[in-house]
Amino acid sequence: MRIALYHNHQKRSLAIVAELRTALLNHGFVMDDQNPELVISVGGDGTLLGAFHHYIDGCDQRRFVGLHTGHLGFYTDWLSSEVDELVASLLADQGQRVSYPILEMTTVSRDGSRTLYKALNEATVKKPIGTLVADVYLGKQHFERFRGDGVAIATPTGSTAYNKANGGAILHPSIQALQMSEIASINNRVFRTLGSPLIVPKGQVITVWPQQEDFLLTCDQMEIEAKDVLRIEFKVSEQQVHFASFRHLDFWHRVQQAFIADFSD
Ligand code: NAP
Ligand code: MN
Repeated sequence: MRIALYHNHQKRSLAIVAELRTALLNHGFVMDDQNPELVISVGGDGTLLGAFHHYIDGCDQRRFVGLHTGHLGFYTDWLSSEVDELVASLLADQGQRVSYPILEMTTVSRDGSRTLYKALNEATVKKPIGTLVADVYLGKQHFERFRGDGVAIATPTGSTAYNKANGGAILHPSIQALQMSEIASINNRVFRTLGSPLIVPKGQVITVWPQQEDFLLTCDQMEIEAKDVLRIEFKVSEQQVHFASFRHLDFWHRVQQAFIADFSD
């Protein structure tokens, strides 16, 4: 199996990467940064997002696995104390994988050109200073004129991230859908938005049409060039991201561990 290690540059991560690389080579695995079949991310959930974007081309043929150097994360099944267990699982690998939906974002420019982006967590349309005014379309229907800081459109696995901070629901990743949540919308006698998150199924398109020229676009941890962008279309991608599932971590258990357990124990 061809393996790439993708990591952040924290001291702890570098030490784990060195340990992991030695163990993998000793067991006959091939290290291949260019065209890996398996990408092991060492760091946090944010590092896994970086790995996803780095290896997004050819994603259909790859699997990801995350080793967290801190606590257990949402994309990270292994802890830094479990290098030996991870290598043992790789030796017994039978190609097990679990697949999650990803978000497809297409920007349409004034000249009609279209640029495609993919997100694992979410994309946002924001205006950090002043009010974002944007028309939101669900399919062809004009749904609302949004005023506020912005909107986030999240995948199911991204629903525990930014989306959650916006009051969005947590979506099980077996559900092929996107969730739009509002970031500080203005609601009063004059301006009105739905005010609650909404979930659209695969096959439907959400279009956000900003009414100003200066707004911010993000795709996971990255800022996207929004100059000359007229509107932005969002839908569930036909492509999925695959994670190696050597051991099954129940999604709700993970949610409970991340958000509840530490506080109630
Ligand atoms: P970061 O500032 O380290 O991320 C913020 C936190 O989100 C970190 O604790 C990160 O975990 C965690 N996280 C990332 N993906 C998650 C997921 N799918 N479910 C639950 N928690 C998740 O920046 P980053 O590591 O580059 O991550 C970028 C992400 O930060 C964005 O995609 C967005 O979802 C999130 N974000 C959240 C807010 C907010 O909640 N108000 C604002 C901006 C961005 P790790 O520490 O393991 O990396
Ligand atoms: Mn992070």
